[in-house]
Amino acid sequence: MQRKQDLIDFLINNPIFELYIKKLKNCICCFYYHGIENKIIDPFIQQEQITTAQLTKHILYLKHNGFEFINLSDLYNVLNRLNNDCLLGPNSMGKYAIFTFDDGYLNNKTILLPLMKIYQIPFTVFINTNHVTNRKRHLFYFLRTALSFCKNKVISLETIKKNYNISTPLNKLKCYNELASLYRTLPQRIVIILNLEIQSLLNINEWNKLNNQFNSEEVLSWDDIIEMNNDKLVDFGSHGLDHFICHNSQDPDETKMQIIKSKAIIKGKLGKCNWFSYPNGRIQDISKLAYDIVKSEFKLAFSTVRANIDKNSNKHLLPRIIPYCNLSRYRANLKISFLKFTKQKYEREIVNLVKSIS
Ligand SMILES: [Zn+2]
Repeated sequence: MQRKQDLIDFLINNPIFELYIKKLKNCICCFYYHGIENKIIDPFIQQEQITTAQLTKHILYLKHNGFEFINLSDLYNVLNRLNNDCLLGPNSMGKYAIFTFDDGYLNNKTILLPLMKIYQIPFTVFINTNHVTNRKRHLFYFLRTALSFCKNKVISLETIKKNYNISTPLNKLKCYNELASLYRTLPQRIVIILNLEIQSLLNINEWNKLNNQFNSEEVLSWDDIIEMNNDKLVDFGSHGLDHFICHNSQDPDETKMQIIKSKAIIKGKLGKCNWFSYPNGRIQDISKLAYDIVKSEFKLAFSTVRANIDKNSNKHLLPRIIPYCNLSRYRANLKISFLKFTKQKYEREIVNLVKSIS
């Protein structure tokens, strides 16, 4: 951990690398965000939100370093051009930044769109269609909020037959980390039951008050999406029906339905659905079956494996860079994406997945 931090500090403080980013002429960096808020009142509960001030700093940093902002149709064309014309030299690509936003937060319309209009930056929002239809918040919001505000010293969860001591903030954090890991690895039907148990830790009045307080966690409606879709800067893609993580322990029929039906619903509402982003998106969150279906249904699909995009990137397992809110860490992470070992790690991971047997 310390070694990693030392490396990050080295990169941040090294002016040569800063110059390298500035002088770069050919690269494609795709970033993934979630929600955006003007003011964060609880960094733990609102951990998927970036502030308007922070996102503005990211935008200005990229502009200052000569990045051009493109949308996913442009990316698709660039990748096809790079793949099809072997005569293209290394200087023919361009220096591009791509902004994507997962999970379909309502603030993507109320706060993000006005900001992106100022800078004329295109962006894509990946939505979970069942959450949109039911205006249902994400499971992790319930988990974080219930644990934060639950006054019990011990909780017992029947679904997983476990008791947790949550009497101190540290214990709560440990419990959260363990449950979050289960949310990401158990089959969806068990996660849904577990989440109902988690929700029952607070009563309806408490939930009403907290939902109001944390309105940053609200999701877009279809009316919002249809209205946003009229703006040429905005584009939508699928993130599944229910933020279903497509790992190997999921039911294969359910995996198939989550991907295919979400596409059909978006296509029915907006006329097209060409892009997919895998929920959670690490290689262990993507089964070979999910990859195969996504490959046959979508033009491009995005993971959360960190690297830059180039002509060798797999179009259905494209890497993305996590943009930490803080500008120094953001800059460091962008730089790390250019290191050779990052690229090699991405290539190793995708080769293993593509070759694996479902
Ligand atoms: Zn997501």
